Amino acid sequence: MAVEPSGGRGSSKSGEGRGLLSLVATPIGNLGDITLRALETLRAVDAIACEDTRVTAKLLARHGIERPLIAYHEHNARRMEPLLVRRMAEGARIALVSDAGTPLLSDPGEGLVRAAIAAGIPVTALPGPSAALAALSLSGLPAERFLFAGFPPARSGERRRFLAGLATVPATLIFYEAPHRLAESLADMAAVFGARQAAIARELTKLHEEVRRGGLDDLARETGEGEAPRGELVVVVAPPGEAAEEGEGPDLDAVLRDALARLSLRDAVAEASAITGLPRKEVYARALELQKEAP
Ligand code: SAM
Repeated sequence: MAVEPSGGRGSSKSGEGRGLLSLVATPIGNLGDITLRALETLRAVDAIACEDTRVTAKLLARHGIERPLIAYHEHNARRMEPLLVRRMAEGARIALVSDAGTPLLSDPGEGLVRAAIAAGIPVTALPGPSAALAALSLSGLPAERFLFAGFPPARSGERRRFLAGLATVPATLIFYEAPHRLAESLADMAAVFGARQAAIARELTKLHEEVRRGGLDDLARETGEGEAPRGELVVVVAPPGEAAEEGEGPDLDAVLRDALARLSLRDAVAEASAITGLPRKEVYARALELQKEAP
């Protein structure tokens, strides 16, 4: 059954019609990737809540759409949510878009959706592009079970703990990453996840779309050697092998060697213990052995 925003353009006066929140996916590069339903909805709503009014104004101009834009982004979300919900409770139909792709996926909207649900306002989704799913489908990695992990933390220690928390998840992992952090992020993934297959999907749907596939260690090395890639990218990592699924977890020696090269013995043991989940005593003993082995 098709779900249409209720009422026409002029039905938003207080008390008239029924409010609606429409979550509208927009292109992630190729401007042709917008659905007919998305365009109909953007034309029909009373207002469009968007991350950056300049970005959305360009999209609308291309399709000859003129609707009021309301800035809704991470810095004003808490203040704007009650205002938007009040308007919808009075009958307004509001569309939520982000700069690119599907709202809420590493983009604003979660608070607004929750607030709308709590206020009994109908919410509908207009599916469309998302870099996460485009990358997964192009990766050549198992797509039957996957986990979208968003952006890893920017700092290495925190990032390694974050990755360690995902090390035994029996699913393909999808990460967003900034180009200037790709090399260090891949190095941490190789240290924490070991030799898994992975894919780096860059500039999806754009002129220079590219997917690099290979072992995490090779991809990390190649990326570390070259210049930082340009554009936007997604990293997709294969699920752990059977041994890891049974609880082997990240490779202690690899994690320790890397930590010992950067940190004091004490800090390296703390980090490796946090990443692997192994007791400090055991990690400390192994660290001493590795130090003895070192040339
Ligand atoms: N909500 C969006 C979605 O559904 O894909 C994602 C928004 S998030 C703030 C932006 C990140 O998505 C980028 O840093 C990049 O990791 C990924 N991304 C967005 N567009 C992309 C593209 N065309 N190619 C590759 N990655 C892209």
